[in-house]
Amino acid sequence: MTVQDICSFSAGKWVGCDDEARQIFSAITGDLIARAGNSSLDIEAMLDFARTVGGPALRTLTFHDRARLIKSLALVLAEKKQMLYDISFSTGATQKDHVIDIDGGIGTLFSFASIGRREMPDDQIYLDGPVEPLSRNGTFLGQHICTSLQGVAVHINAYNFPVWGMLEKLAPALLAGLPAIVKPATATCYVTELCVRIIIESGILPKGALQLVCGGIGDTLSRLTSQDVVSFTGSSNTAIHLRSQPQLIKNSIRFIAEQDSLNASILGPDVALGSPEFDLFAKEVKSEMITKAGQKCTAIRRIFVSQAHLNQMVETLKTKLANTSVGDPRLSETDMGALVSKVQKRDVLEKASLIGRHAECVFGDPDNFDVIGAEVENGAFVPPMLFYCPDPDTAINVHDTEVFGPVSTIMAYRDIDHAIELANRGKGSLVASVITNAPDVARQAVLGAGAYHGRLYFNNRMSMKESTGHGSPMPQMLHGGPGRAGGGEELGGIRGVLHNMQRTAVQGSPDILTQISKKWVPGAKQTFETDHPFTRTFGTLVVGETFNTKSRTISIEDIEHFAYFTGDTFYAHMDEAAAKRNPFFPGRVAHGYLLLSFAAGLFVQPDEGPVLANTGLDNLRFMKPIQAGDSIKVCLTVKHKKPRNENYGEVRWHVNLYNQDDALVAEYELLTMNAYERLASI
Ligand code: NAP
Repeated sequence: MTVQDICSFSAGKWVGCDDEARQIFSAITGDLIARAGNSSLDIEAMLDFARTVGGPALRTLTFHDRARLIKSLALVLAEKKQMLYDISFSTGATQKDHVIDIDGGIGTLFSFASIGRREMPDDQIYLDGPVEPLSRNGTFLGQHICTSLQGVAVHINAYNFPVWGMLEKLAPALLAGLPAIVKPATATCYVTELCVRIIIESGILPKGALQLVCGGIGDTLSRLTSQDVVSFTGSSNTAIHLRSQPQLIKNSIRFIAEQDSLNASILGPDVALGSPEFDLFAKEVKSEMITKAGQKCTAIRRIFVSQAHLNQMVETLKTKLANTSVGDPRLSETDMGALVSKVQKRDVLEKASLIGRHAECVFGDPDNFDVIGAEVENGAFVPPMLFYCPDPDTAINVHDTEVFGPVSTIMAYRDIDHAIELANRGKGSLVASVITNAPDVARQAVLGAGAYHGRLYFNNRMSMKESTGHGSPMPQMLHGGPGRAGGGEELGGIRGVLHNMQRTAVQGSPDILTQISKKWVPGAKQTFETDHPFTRTFGTLVVGETFNTKSRTISIEDIEHFAYFTGDTFYAHMDEAAAKRNPFFPGRVAHGYLLLSFAAGLFVQPDEGPVLANTGLDNLRFMKPIQAGDSIKVCLTVKHKKPRNENYGEVRWHVNLYNQDDALVAEYELLTMNAYERLASI
């Protein structure tokens, strides 16, 4: 059998193994299948290449450009995913597991591509929050902004998700404009290497944006600077060792850790035997135990049910687990493949025996179980193992020992407070789930357990068909947890991107902030053109360009007509005495929506032109009431422009309504879609 040399990708070149390379074995047969590592890898050259070639290239691109690259990567990987499936079986993973790792990774790329286009500007500066008023007259303001770090992201990944584990860190880093050096866990790095090869060969990424270290990472961490970020996934022991490196401490280098976790699942006290929630709970527990043979950081390690349901739940789980076929992951009839290696199998059995000191194994015997299509003694197979712990209050190991395999412990609680207290004994986890159809139980769980868990997952008969599963980190939602889980956060949409950027508080005048943010700030310079802004295309509109309308007087007939026409005969518009009794109004006032409608009548240019649609209105505030006899006029300013697709872009207009005394009556932001200049026919 040929032993594959797994390469690193360093400073634009593939570098093979040396004599000290580590050996990698098949999870199914135990055969030596590959080697990885080269002790003479030039780490300094890799860091330099990322910092001086990859970083600058990424930083010239806007968030939208980077999002497009990420989408292209997703498409290329989707096209070639069969190659990744084929090679992944040797890790012990089944086809179903591949979908989580490979399709899940590709899906994460698609999500970040869309987040980048939808939620970030077509610019290199991200605005974090609104303009902050810092002065009485508005001539000095503040704005938080984020810019790309000018270093490199070092990603150190766990073995269990060789594709998703890389892509879920890579997508936010690339979107942030930060190049990455990825170091996958050696045991499964041959899958990551193939994924990186597909990416590099696609030519989509700028040079230096992605490099790969297979095998040891040498003294990389001691060469990092304050512009670099380390993002680690793995065990807490490794995390402690790495995060305490003197260079990281000295230079305040960001260290994001996702480490092991004693995740819990609680069957709500409201759940009755035979209810949809009872079955759902058992189904989720089984799935979390056997998916990836339990080698999932989010897997359910501790199962909490009420004393009343304990026996029934144990029996239900035993029946379900008895229907699990363990074996060669390439066979379609296999439900659960192998652990990644015999080393991992030894670790799982040792840790399971620690659990066994406080709990009785009620299902699964590692010395006696069936394996289909493979030799049990050659591969890293174990059966799913369910423990029952009769005294969860005193049993320390069940709340402290992470068995990274298909092993869970069931325990009984007295009431929901007790269940929450036990769930929190994990000292910080990635996820806890509560299966309940009682919203008050959910709120109690949030108040009692929120501080201990990175994610709380509630599921019941209403959400179960569409729910994404206890164990699935979603790109839009935070992944990470406090305390023992590492204290890190990944994913979570934009939040994950911002870990790779520097947030800076910028202070200055409206003109300065407008120029920096490319968003018109009230008080900044306005420009006036002779033609109406609605006659001009997206490309020719300029931020700060302003249009002042004529004024219009509002009559009592207008107010009454609007009231009867719309049906809004609220007393403040119709009854002088009642309106006067209201502390907000001097007497009958015009409807706010009447003012908005008249405002549109004042600023709209009616001819067919580049304005394609009015798509919404944000941040509307009515400041001053308008009565019959008052007049209004509108000041419309181009606040921001955001390309949407090849045909049109979104224009955000700052709209101020003033009365006859130039007092501000209403303020809002109007959104329109405007055609690009090149659509000459419009
Ligand atoms: P690990 O042994 O801690 O290894 C994690 C990574 O660190 C690997 O890439 C490993 O490389 C590297 N590493 C180990 N020692 C190092 C050192 N001295 N210097 C630099 N790098 C070093 O964890 P694992 O066995 O791969 O993964 C299982 C653990 O990860 C479990 O505890 C699980 O809970 C946790 N996990 C957590 C999450 C999460 O998101 N929170 C996700 C998945 C897994 P080598 O392989 O080359 O040693």
